[in-house]
Amino acid sequence: MKLVLASNNVKKLKELDAILAPLGWELVAQGQLAIPEAEEPHCTFVENALAKARHAARLSGLPALADDSGLCVDALGGAPGVQSARYAGEPKSDARNNQKLLAELGDNCRRSAHFVSLIVFVRHADDPQPIIAEGEWHGEILPAARGDDGFGYDPLFYIGELDKSAAELDAAEKNRRSHRGQALARLVERLLARR
Ligand code: IMP
Repeated sequence: MKLVLASNNVKKLKELDAILAPLGWELVAQGQLAIPEAEEPHCTFVENALAKARHAARLSGLPALADDSGLCVDALGGAPGVQSARYAGEPKSDARNNQKLLAELGDNCRRSAHFVSLIVFVRHADDPQPIIAEGEWHGEILPAARGDDGFGYDPLFYIGELDKSAAELDAAEKNRRSHRGQALARLVERLLARR
């Protein structure tokens, strides 16, 4: 089955493809079909994921998969949350987002945080029964970046039981543990049950 992915983030595409390809699902990034990015005007992850999936399905005529994800930091009242990609404004920059996060937290000793991923699958743009799956990954915000892999806030996201940042995990290990890996595993279970 061919699916359009409502994202042009190459690293996200790779993470999702590694899990979906063995099941016979071929992912095509919406950019490859010249589909522009959807607006993300909502204040919840699930509404934004649905908006992105419906937009990609409408413009491609294919079933669509969308992920809306972000980092929620407890001491910041859940920020950057749905603003994670553009926390430090336009243009999107992981480096400036990470700098802003460190500045906002300062020397606050309450550093708990979690990543959230909402993955939505629609069979077509007006699908009345989208499949929606959620995953969370809990950790802490480091005082300085560690590691070179991953993307986004990975270098600042510390997993205590491994004594590593998310940017120090290889892709397979990140997929096994991450918010997106968990959400996708749940989504796949439901997709398989529907077939
Ligand atoms: P989205 O593409 O609108 O879902 O934006 C998600 C943003 O949240 C990304 O640009 C990153 O800043 C952050 N984010 C989501 N998932 C991850 C992850 O696995 N690692 C690091 N940052 C992430």
